[in-house]
Amino acid sequence: MHISRYVTFDAHVHVMSRSRLESGWRWLQQQCHDDVRTTGKPPTPKSLMADLAGSGIQGCFNFFFAIFPRTSRVVNEWNDRFCSGNAGVLPFLTLHPHDTSGERSEMLNEFILNRHFAGVKIHSFIQDIRLDAEWMHDVCAFLAKNRRILYLHTGFSATYRNRYHEEEMARDLATLLSAFPGLTVVAAHMFYPRLDLAFRLLNTFPNLYLDTTGLISTLEKGGDVGRWLPSWEEHAERIMFGSDAGLNPASILEEVRLFEELAMSEQALRRIGGETAWRLVEILGLSRDGMKLPLSPANIAKSA
Ligand SMILES: [Zn+2]
Repeated sequence: MHISRYVTFDAHVHVMSRSRLESGWRWLQQQCHDDVRTTGKPPTPKSLMADLAGSGIQGCFNFFFAIFPRTSRVVNEWNDRFCSGNAGVLPFLTLHPHDTSGERSEMLNEFILNRHFAGVKIHSFIQDIRLDAEWMHDVCAFLAKNRRILYLHTGFSATYRNRYHEEEMARDLATLLSAFPGLTVVAAHMFYPRLDLAFRLLNTFPNLYLDTTGLISTLEKGGDVGRWLPSWEEHAERIMFGSDAGLNPASILEEVRLFEELAMSEQALRRIGGETAWRLVEILGLSRDGMKLPLSPANIAKSA
């Protein structure tokens, strides 16, 4: 147990059903065959929640995405049930490219409007979704109108051996952000290895945010972390810490410790470690019905 001084919100968590966590773990073992950490037991919803709490994290965005056709609704129902029992965990909707337009609009209405999901998470590579798909336009219009987040996987196209590469995706995202200036978008993984694209978009579009997921260890391995920290520092109000817990051989605690050791100001560490995310939760009104986010730093300050 190590209560972080800086990290209070994890913007990128995958608490999923036990069977999906287990198959995700097998996939990780194939991907990282040299990583001894994947030889251990796969995480469970309970162990992930204990890891979050043990690091002092009081809120998170939760992503459980549909891989197979006809499974979006069951997956969303699971996420709803799980998050309802765990205050501070905010669910995101998943959509599958094979959902019919009727199914899609039914799920958007039901889960976003009635059950207060925080937005939609899209994984272009695993789910084979292009941002220039016509239906993505409708999803963006819905999210912009209802002030909910579009959370996108960006970057690591080489790892996924996907032809939808960073430059093309950044161009498609710029088109969406221009068409929907009120839409809040988070680009997870900062278009790695093209962080330059992420920061160029950040300078152009005020409602774009980035997350640090998967980047610290990757940039450190390539000796590139120092190159980007000044940009992280400068844009700390638009960047959020993410652990990828559930689909990451490293534990949340390991990710938190890596983050805490970055050579940035305390203010930037606190912003990226949680303040940016808590502010988004507040300005977009993302708390779920009856959920008070009892542990948010703002609420702790108020009740102290
Ligand atoms: Zn992820």
